[in-house]
Amino acid sequence: MTTKPGITPPVCSYEGSDYQSQFWDNANRRYEDAVETVAIDRLFDQGGKLLLELGAGAGRLTQRYKGWERIVLLDYSRTQLLQARQRLGDSDKFVYVAADIYKLPFVNGLFDGATMIRTLHHMADAPQTLQSIRRVMAQDSLFLLEFANKRNLKSIFRWLLRKQAWSPFSPEQVEFVELNYNFHPRTILETLRQSGFENEKNLGVSLFRSNWFKNHVKHERLVNWDARFQDKKPFTGLTPSIFTLNRAAGSSEKPVQGSFFSCPICSTALPEAKATQICPGCSHEWQYSQGIYEFRIHPE
Ligand SMILES: [Zn+2]
Repeated sequence: MTTKPGITPPVCSYEGSDYQSQFWDNANRRYEDAVETVAIDRLFDQGGKLLLELGAGAGRLTQRYKGWERIVLLDYSRTQLLQARQRLGDSDKFVYVAADIYKLPFVNGLFDGATMIRTLHHMADAPQTLQSIRRVMAQDSLFLLEFANKRNLKSIFRWLLRKQAWSPFSPEQVEFVELNYNFHPRTILETLRQSGFENEKNLGVSLFRSNWFKNHVKHERLVNWDARFQDKKPFTGLTPSIFTLNRAAGSSEKPVQGSFFSCPICSTALPEAKATQICPGCSHEWQYSQGIYEFRIHPE
C-alpha cells in the first residue's frame, strides 16, 4: 500500500499490492469475511438497477449484492480492478472504473444504491468523501457504509491500562498508521446527516475479532455469536467495525437519459462509450483499456 503525494486530500492506493491474497485469502480472515456477509445480507437485500461499489478492490463482495441489474466497481487501484475483472468477467453487468472518490466521475443523481466497506478507513477527509457520494446518488436511494470504530472494546481496555495514548471517547478521528483512520461513531453519524443522509439502521460487527477467539472457538460458532450480538446494544457501538444503512435525503438532480460519466476536471457529461474519450469541455483524454475506465487525474 502506498500514498499518492501531491493530491489533496492524500489518496491511499493499493496499486500493485497483493492485498487480496495476503489479507483475504488468508484463513485467519475467514471470521471477518463471514460476519461482514451476515451484516450485508441483513441491511442491504433490496436490489435495484444501478449500484456503485466504492473501494470495490478485487471484487471480494461484489457478488454478495444480489438483485442488482448493474454494478459499477470503483477503486483507486487499477491492478485491484484487473483482479476483479478476472474474477467477474467482462459483461454489461459490471463496469470497472479507476477513480478518486473525492472526484467521482459520474453525473449527479445517477445511482440507485451505493456501498462502501473498509474504505472510509483510508479517507483522510470523511465529510468531503460523504458529500461526494451523496452528489451521485438518486433521491431516497440507500447507502451502506462500513467504518472502523475507534471506540471499540479493545481500544477502551488498552486506554484504561494506559497502553494507548489516544482516548477512544474523543470525537476526532485517529490515524494509527499513515492513511488508516478509525472514527468515533457519533462523529460519523453527524457527518452523514450533514452530508444529506438519513441514518436508518446500524449493526456492530466483528465483536470477537481477536486471535484468542479465532483459535479457541469453532468458526461456525463464532460467526453465530457475532450474528446474535450485531444488533444488541451496547455492543452495536463497541465493535471494531460498524455497518450503517443510510437513505439519501432531500432532493437529487435527475440525470439526463443516456448520460453517465462526468469529467472529474470540468464536470462535462460524457457517455458510457467503452472507448477512450476526449472531454469536449477541457480536452483531457480519458483512457479506456483492458476493460477499465481511467478517470484518475494523476494515474501512475
Ligand atoms: Zn473535462
